[in-house]
Amino acid sequence: MTDLVADQNAVRRYLCDDAPDARLITVRLGSTKDEMLDHQNMPDILKSLCEELVAACCMLSHMLKFDGEMIVQIKGSGPVTMIVAECSSEGRIRSTAQWHDLTEAASFRELLGTGYLAVTIDPKQGERYQGIVPLESDSIEGCINHYFKSSEQLDTKLWLSSREKSVGGLLIQRLPAEGGRALLEDSNWQTLATLADTITKKELSSEAGPLLIYKLFHELNPRGLDPWEIHFGCTCSRERSARAIRALGEKEVKQLFLERPSLKVDCHFCGQVYQYDHADLEWLLSDQPPGSDTLQ
Ligand SMILES: [Zn+2]
Repeated sequence: MTDLVADQNAVRRYLCDDAPDARLITVRLGSTKDEMLDHQNMPDILKSLCEELVAACCMLSHMLKFDGEMIVQIKGSGPVTMIVAECSSEGRIRSTAQWHDLTEAASFRELLGTGYLAVTIDPKQGERYQGIVPLESDSIEGCINHYFKSSEQLDTKLWLSSREKSVGGLLIQRLPAEGGRALLEDSNWQTLATLADTITKKELSSEAGPLLIYKLFHELNPRGLDPWEIHFGCTCSRERSARAIRALGEKEVKQLFLERPSLKVDCHFCGQVYQYDHADLEWLLSDQPPGSDTLQ
């Protein structure tokens, strides 16, 4: 272990010489999570939930190593009706939420009520996959671990912690013995899982990275691989927003333009505003996708 610092805005994978059947992943997001959420005017309690969901999404994306988009979404019946986090295979993240009448003191269950968590893998090539579990936990961490228990064939567990300055996460997974499905005999997996359980929320949010892995698992000789840099970015465009308007139907769109000189569409993820005026009406209603993708 040469690089003994906490990661900044990065995900990292580790191997342990003395636990070869274990895969470890950490994530730590600092300035990136602020860039992602600061413009969204969200209550702090909801920001924390978005941060933890995006941290989990980053680790899931890195664990599965596919080319495309990982999307984790929670839908609830409480004052928070939706939280979504995305991470692309290029390390681009974004997150947003929908809510009403929120009190800061509310618990996770009071905020979300009943609902479900959906994990979607949207590869650039091949079929989209979605796994869904009901919300039966008191935290984002609990919900994702419940998802692993219900759907993941491999023994997998994660820990998440969000504090003011940064959000951190740790994921451990037990892999089958090389070339097969059977588990490795004479494994140190249980030792590793017990050590992982000693992690504190403070350590996780502020130190997730090679130093923390070394502190926790040094007796198993962990080795960190290269970090995977994470950045905030949005995939919205003038063209995509136009498609959303078109989906309202011709009659509705014409009526909206009768009532106002222009239509504006805000992207909740990044705050970008797309404006359409009367001159755009014809192509907004045409079946042809708009040719221009210029931001305004
Ligand atoms: Zn956007």
